[in-house]
Amino acid sequence: MITLEFKLKGRETQYRIVDEMIRTFQFVRNKCLRLWIDGRNVKLSEVNAEATKIRHNLEFPWAGKLESSAAQAASERAMSAIRRFYDNCKAKVPGKKGFPKFQKNNRSVEYKVAGWKLSSDRKRITFTDKFKAGTFKLVGSYDLNFYALKAIKRVRIVRRSDGYYCQFCIAVERNISIAPTGKCLGIDLGLSKFYTASDGSTVENPRHLRKAEKALKRAQRRVSSKFRTHKKQGEKVKQSNNYKKACRRLGKRHLTVQRRRKDFVVKTAKALLESSDFIAYEKLNVKNLVKNHKLSKSISDAAWTQFTGWIERYGMLYKRPVVAVLPQYTSSDCSGCGTRVKKSLSVRTHVCPKCSLVIDRDENAALNILVKGLNRAGMALNLSTPGHGGINASGQTNLCLLDENLSDKLTE
Ligand SMILES: [Zn+2]
Repeated sequence: MITLEFKLKGRETQYRIVDEMIRTFQFVRNKCLRLWIDGRNVKLSEVNAEATKIRHNLEFPWAGKLESSAAQAASERAMSAIRRFYDNCKAKVPGKKGFPKFQKNNRSVEYKVAGWKLSSDRKRITFTDKFKAGTFKLVGSYDLNFYALKAIKRVRIVRRSDGYYCQFCIAVERNISIAPTGKCLGIDLGLSKFYTASDGSTVENPRHLRKAEKALKRAQRRVSSKFRTHKKQGEKVKQSNNYKKACRRLGKRHLTVQRRRKDFVVKTAKALLESSDFIAYEKLNVKNLVKNHKLSKSISDAAWTQFTGWIERYGMLYKRPVVAVLPQYTSSDCSGCGTRVKKSLSVRTHVCPKCSLVIDRDENAALNILVKGLNRAGMALNLSTPGHGGINASGQTNLCLLDENLSDKLTE
């Protein structure tokens, strides 16, 4: 499955209709969730059927304008939120279980195979439901003519600070085979270095948020200064156009940071998978790590979860095994002899009293992660021969499957 994104170009009135579509989509999703929260022992199939009932309910005439497949997609979103909550409860995830919430600022509307139509040259899209949003121009560098129309399984409109986008989810098999490199890598994620690999190579942390912070703060101050407070309690004040303008500018600045971060993460993950036949990384519990208030912003900015997600994705694409390992003792154990050497975070060099190995702290951790990963993948390891011949053999797909099971186990 791939997702292609285009910018939607239309008239201002059309965009307002899209806003209405997004609001209705959110309304249906929330109504479905309401049924589950208020009722007892509500089955997921009933939640699914609720979407159709809402569309035909005369109390909400506007909900009937939404295409039926879009209403289904909305109820699916409610169901996936419920399912995630159940899964977390079943897996006994420590702390909050993520009880589903009512959405307030949904930014997208989703269609399945109906409710939209592409023009013959596939450069324009028309939304055919009762909202009558009309035809939009698709601006982007992809060519939809390349794919079969039947392969387009979902069409999604997403609202961002700088406009409206249309995403096409297309079911295509992607098979890319690249030449084996004869290398296996363990990677240690960090803040001073984005990652340190077991072969000693490092990638600098780009710190996108830190770099943009000054501009972000300026934009945020502008928003605050334009905000009108209410004179009396409970009285609603209409915000000025300048306030809205300032909000948009702030949103755009955040969007830029977000895009730079994603671009970096995707490219780094791709380069990593292309340069190695096997990747082991540590499965960090970022949710717990960000509780450290001094580091939370830097940790979020580093986008480790996003990065490892893309490593997994490229692993699937290139059919190269990717294994997540538990992070316990990876930085304290000696990669040479296995002695546990306790050290504080400020000690940047690993010095082993037993085998007198002196090595960079992160590199030591990366080596440990590699060993753990290869062990988990069920392979014997001989560190003196980093080029591991057996990995390139036909067992790759099996390893990918194995890895899926592993990551399931790790999250439990
Ligand atoms: Zn040692």
